[in-house]
Amino acid sequence: MYKSFDEIKAAIANKETSCVALVENYLARIEEKKHLNVWNEVYADEAIAQAKKVDEKIASGTAGRLAGMVVGLKDVIAYKDHGLQASSKILDKYVSPFSATATERLLDEDAIIIGRQSCDEFAMGSSNENSAFGVVKNNIDETRVPGGSSGASAVAVSDNHCLVSLGSDTGGSVRQPAAFTGTVGLKPTYSRISRWGLIAYASSFDTIGIISHNVPDAALVLEIIAGQDEQDATVSQQPVPAYSTSVSDKPKEKLRIAYIKETVESEHLNKDISEKTFNKIKALKAEGHTVEGIEFPLLDYLLPTYYILTTAEASTNLERFDGVRYGYRTDQPKDLEALYKKSRSEGFGDEVKRRIMLGTFVLSASYYDAYFSKAQKVRRLIKETTEKILSEYDFILMPTTSTPSFKIGEYGENNLLELYLGDLYTVHASLAGLPAISIPNGEDKDGLTIGLQIMANRFEEEKMLAFSNYLSELD
Ligand code: GLN
Repeated sequence: MYKSFDEIKAAIANKETSCVALVENYLARIEEKKHLNVWNEVYADEAIAQAKKVDEKIASGTAGRLAGMVVGLKDVIAYKDHGLQASSKILDKYVSPFSATATERLLDEDAIIIGRQSCDEFAMGSSNENSAFGVVKNNIDETRVPGGSSGASAVAVSDNHCLVSLGSDTGGSVRQPAAFTGTVGLKPTYSRISRWGLIAYASSFDTIGIISHNVPDAALVLEIIAGQDEQDATVSQQPVPAYSTSVSDKPKEKLRIAYIKETVESEHLNKDISEKTFNKIKALKAEGHTVEGIEFPLLDYLLPTYYILTTAEASTNLERFDGVRYGYRTDQPKDLEALYKKSRSEGFGDEVKRRIMLGTFVLSASYYDAYFSKAQKVRRLIKETTEKILSEYDFILMPTTSTPSFKIGEYGENNLLELYLGDLYTVHASLAGLPAISIPNGEDKDGLTIGLQIMANRFEEEKMLAFSNYLSELD
């Protein structure tokens, strides 16, 4: 199986393969690995038909830049006339009447979309165990979770069901599954990619993200899907650099890199992860770069701030699923109120209901100031403090997660808080709206993959991607 888009392009050019052959191979792999439960729906016939068209375009020299790239979409990204349901029963049988801007831009460049992938319901979760379609298994160890919420999207890449996946990242949902499956997970700056056609979880945090085998593939996809969009007023007007070209640049000067002491030196950090992180730090120092441990006094506030603000935003965003306008509707309610109540109680899973309730609580008149307003202020402090660090350093480096993938069923009602605590390292960039990427950083003693996270200042994806690519090759 091909592990990079460059290899695929070369193989197509040499007539070693074709788009049709590629799609057939992926479909066979999907069938063989059905038990991992990655796909909510596979568009088999359609993908082959599309592949034929792209092969013709290649033959006539009119193909787009992504000809030969087979992509999977997390089930929160719209594709016109295709099912879309955020892995929730409440969107049962819903078909999207339009495509996300990101989807359209991929198709315009002749990418082939092979299906939609499972995720935690409405992208809420860190394990891909909360899906109306059932638990997703990690291909590296099938007794373990792939991470979440874009767990299936990460397995799809790691296990060769497609070359690239588009996921979404609100607090780590692309980066943490990437770490758990040995793939690259890129979360761009907030507002870099249009959110048009992305089902909202927490709108001031949500970004579309990219999962791939390597940094250059992520750079190319970002270059194609990022940028201005009439459909999304929050998207940045900043021009999109040629990420796919600059990604192979080596650092021109010595860099200054910070790591937050408490994250990397914490005694709670898994020993193998700590060792691998320090190995990279040593390698960077050996190359003449400055790497320094710094304090980040707001560390304890990251998780509470994230969970207050995201649940608040989720509770308002999910109000629209009322059993009337879309998807699932309860049978024979006794009156209108019962229609709303029963449709929502039956349609949403437990985790989503928990977050709607938490969010409603922090937004309620008596607690608004104590929780929501305060959390917004703390978010600003987090953002300013982090940007200040990034005005003195080029990057902040840390592990993506504090443990490798955990066992399916390890976290339940009784220790949910521990699961939330696992998001500590990824929510930082999301709160600050900054770009961050997780790259593979070896394995622990049991062969479970480890991720290394690099965070950069706003709109510094270009620099971050080139550095990550350089760092991937540094031992
Ligand atoms: N695990 C985090 C949460 O449950 C992140 C989710 C995400 O990024 N979509 O909120």
